[in-house]
Amino acid sequence: MKKISMEQWENKYIKGQITRFDQKNQMFLRPGWDPEINGMVEDWSLNGPPQDEAGFTLEDRALLSASSMGTMLALFNTDLPNPMPGTVSLPNKGPFSFKIPEEMKLDSSNPQEITEKIKKAAKWFGADMVGICRLDRRWVYSHTYGEGVYFGPGDGTKHTSGESIVQEIPDEFQYAIVMCYEMDYDVIQHYSTYASLAATSMGYSRMAITNHHLSSFIKDIGYKVINCTTNNVAISAPMAMQAGLGDLGRNGLLITPKYGPRVRISKVITDLPLVPDSPIDFGVTEFCEACEICSEECPSQSLQYGERSTETQNISNIEGVSKWHINAETCRAHWSRSRRDCAVCINVCPYNKPDTWFHKSVRWCTDHMRWGDPLYVRGDKMMGYGKAKSPDRFWNEWKP
Ligand code: SF4
Ligand code: SF4
Repeated sequence: MKKISMEQWENKYIKGQITRFDQKNQMFLRPGWDPEINGMVEDWSLNGPPQDEAGFTLEDRALLSASSMGTMLALFNTDLPNPMPGTVSLPNKGPFSFKIPEEMKLDSSNPQEITEKIKKAAKWFGADMVGICRLDRRWVYSHTYGEGVYFGPGDGTKHTSGESIVQEIPDEFQYAIVMCYEMDYDVIQHYSTYASLAATSMGYSRMAITNHHLSSFIKDIGYKVINCTTNNVAISAPMAMQAGLGDLGRNGLLITPKYGPRVRISKVITDLPLVPDSPIDFGVTEFCEACEICSEECPSQSLQYGERSTETQNISNIEGVSKWHINAETCRAHWSRSRRDCAVCINVCPYNKPDTWFHKSVRWCTDHMRWGDPLYVRGDKMMGYGKAKSPDRFWNEWKP
């Protein structure tokens, strides 16, 4: 794995004028306002009620709902530039916190030292990976769309919240702390059941909670934050790439060196002076060129074959970036039709492996002996990795 300069990263990915993405074009928000896509399926809600089927039982459904509870913290996030209407502010300072006088503000003359402390604190609060990037305003949503559109559980009722407002981040915010959270390897493998989706939901919950912890910490040392909670404020993947946490795969997901695409990403934007990390190259682009497993396995055929390009599929893709643009419309419609989220493109990806010596060795080869990529892909297929496991695995096999 080697570090690359921002110029090299820019040359690889940026191929035109980037028009800042409007958050309301995010596929999760479009059913709330876009008549163009509303005809694709009748009911855009996700995850139906419990069923008498392994992986979808009452306890599986309860596990999924309960795993989302941390994400609900997002609803109380008054740090967002466009918080949900009616948002109740959490008490800013609890009994264990304190408001520091201006003269006690942490000395910022040694950004390297502060950066190390921030990274340590982020891990303490729950992040599995942490990186720093300069805030690249091209990834900041041009408009925010409140906290989004919610659906009543299983009943398809739309609750539109918020309005579209122009979003500008003040100049004083120059850095972002980007964090990744591993989703459980064993549990996510019995996709796509309510129990496997609990692994995704726990990723979201952990990131919401960690973001709140870290934001509070930074405020308590005297600096400002924009707590982006889940996927708010800006596009996470390019920020994670700029912060040196991974590279982009054909499946449209951040591929990290240790967990592959099996991560969720959060970020906190701040005025605290920090030292940015460098983007990394560990052979992902070349490997994805040789491997099209996710495109072959995608149940809605939403992933591209062939080369990266700037050609977008619809308004849910950003313009000006050379990558494999996914068709979020057909992907999300599939989720709603099947009444469950889909984790196929995470599970089948050869980078999604446990961190054993064997898989570490193969990963070393995909980085240092890239000529062998077609061979490694064939080996992965022969070994039968990525196949869905027994749907009741969580209750019968998973060990805490
Ligand atoms: S989530 Fe599922 S449907 Fe969507 S792109 Fe991935 S594999 Fe395809
Ligand atoms: S499955 Fe293959 S092509 Fe798809 S993201 Fe993973 S490595 Fe790349």
